[in-house]
Amino acid sequence: MHQILSAIPDGLLDAEPAELKELLGGPTLIHLEGRRNPPLFLSVMQHGNEPSGFRALCRVLRRYKAGGGREDLPRSLSIFIGNVRAAEKNVRRLESQPDYNRVWPGSPAEASPEKAMMANIIGSMRSRGVFASIDTHNTTGPNPHYACINRTDAKFIYLASFFSRTIVYFGMPPGVQTMAFAAFCPSVTLECGQAGDERGVAHAAEYIDACLHLSRFPDNPVSPHDYELFHTVARVTIPEGSVSALVVMPKMRKQTSAFARTWTI
Ligand SMILES: [Zn+2]
Repeated sequence: MHQILSAIPDGLLDAEPAELKELLGGPTLIHLEGRRNPPLFLSVMQHGNEPSGFRALCRVLRRYKAGGGREDLPRSLSIFIGNVRAAEKNVRRLESQPDYNRVWPGSPAEASPEKAMMANIIGSMRSRGVFASIDTHNTTGPNPHYACINRTDAKFIYLASFFSRTIVYFGMPPGVQTMAFAAFCPSVTLECGQAGDERGVAHAAEYIDACLHLSRFPDNPVSPHDYELFHTVARVTIPEGSVSALVVMPKMRKQTSAFARTWTI
């Protein structure tokens, strides 16, 4: 159900998220050639009301020939622009749709065109030997920016610590993009604060550009002093109409403090 392109369509970098449906017609995978291979994978707008990753992507691409700038992309980049129908309505997903970030391989969700699309994308990127994967989201509450991972290998910690000292390890729910990619490459979810906050866009843009310039992962692990690793242990759902939900995430290796914030992915 997705189209595959090899160039940035006219008007994309100036488009508002609500205009993507009109411009693209549906979910879109774009493969751009850069100086290095294999490609970096980036997904944006899996949730239609979480635009910071898309806005950051546009900002980064303008610097490079692929987006009208001067330089070659430092590394090939494969971009997935997800739920453009939901973006048109500025909602996470339409009532008729599954949640795009719950139907990647490993998901128990029933078969659907969206689930088949994600399996197809995973197959395509796996065959390209993807360098690393970045998924971008916004949170509903005023969280600090943080990165989520599904494995605690050195490369995953490195990729996450590049974005934030705060790293969250999670094993549930199944079917999320980061987890599907974690089976064959370092992958991370960026939580860029609330939609509409310019700081999240600037931070994500800086991060994406840094990852494009990363030639290889370092041999040495990140010092434990340079990050705080949390583990999601519970999700509390509160009645509709209440202001926020609360998730408590004790640190993985330290028992002395906790991290309690509004959190959805
Ligand atoms: Zn999201």
